[in-house]
Amino acid sequence: MAARKRRRMARRGYILLLVLACIALAFALILTLRRMHKRQDAEMVDTVSGIETIPTVGSDQPIEDPSDPISTEDPATTTTYLESVAPATTGRMSASGSMRCDTQHIFVRVANSKEVPVRVSAGVSMDDISFDVDDPDVAFVTEDGEVIGLQRGNCHVMIRYKEETLAVPVTVRELHVENGCTYVDDILVANKSYSLPPEYDPGLLPETEQAFERLCGDAAYEGLEIFSHSDYRSYDFQQKVYGSMVSGYSKEYADTVSARPGYSEHQTGYTIDCNTPDNSFAETDEGKWLAENCWRYGFIIRYPLGKEAITGYDYESWHIRWVGKDAAKEMYDLGLTLEEYLDIDSYYHDDVEETSPADEDDAEDADEATQPLTAPDWDDVEE
Ligand SMILES: [Zn+2]
Repeated sequence: MAARKRRRMARRGYILLLVLACIALAFALILTLRRMHKRQDAEMVDTVSGIETIPTVGSDQPIEDPSDPISTEDPATTTTYLESVAPATTGRMSASGSMRCDTQHIFVRVANSKEVPVRVSAGVSMDDISFDVDDPDVAFVTEDGEVIGLQRGNCHVMIRYKEETLAVPVTVRELHVENGCTYVDDILVANKSYSLPPEYDPGLLPETEQAFERLCGDAAYEGLEIFSHSDYRSYDFQQKVYGSMVSGYSKEYADTVSARPGYSEHQTGYTIDCNTPDNSFAETDEGKWLAENCWRYGFIIRYPLGKEAITGYDYESWHIRWVGKDAAKEMYDLGLTLEEYLDIDSYYHDDVEETSPADEDDAEDADEATQPLTAPDWDDVEE
């Protein structure tokens, strides 16, 4: 009897041990599975952003926002959401079309800010849009989508709405002054905001001259005659032109037809006026060819039509500026003026009290110097 009882006890012990072992095994299995799942999710987020570490933690995780409907859902739903995240779209429109950016590329200077021009489709609230950057050393973005340049370089601003991500390239530029000349990154600037010193007197620079020779040669090959009407102008020359306009008429009138000394782009050594300094040139075969092709040689049409308020000058179809092939191509492709490309303004700062930049209707060139001075005619202001 006692032996049977002992055997039964032993069997019960085995069963208990087996059950315990099963429970332990199940626990271990669950833990392992959960850990694997977590790692998968983390990898998913990284692939989506293309960023290893995002300083603004949570901006790509809408679950942290209590106002976001997703945050009220259970973890299982969140997992599904993360797995369905689409890769970031680079460009102007997000993959599912819920949001678009009105610029292809944001150019901003160090310490300046630029608004990310985001538009959302019907039914999408701007409150649900979040922003972050993929290189926090280069730029910072506020939660309202204001990009602030921190240091010279390139990065992307990531615009996010639920599972959609739109990546817009950002270039942060740096302005520096060297011997009285202003450079933004490596481009010398002369406009109504940034002047050149009297001693900057390089003449027409060889890179400009050589590029222009190639341009003229290729145009000639197509039966077109492009030539230089005028190119380099020194500070002293510009002073004479402008001074004679001021003494003959008035400062106000002089400012409409001539650049102030130091403010003419012709003093940079990078500028050429082609053929006829008159906008009838734009309608000629030469004018059309120049507008379409000058970027191939590193030139830009410096004062384009429709950008008068930005450049501070009337449209000048004949005035080209050498900036180098890469910059010229980028400006041509994006349809930007030098001011937009470098994130600078162009207006006479001491005139701020009198006129706003948009009201100014000034002309850059001083070809009047070689023309007889006639009574000012506001409808016939020629370059
Ligand atoms: Zn000119």
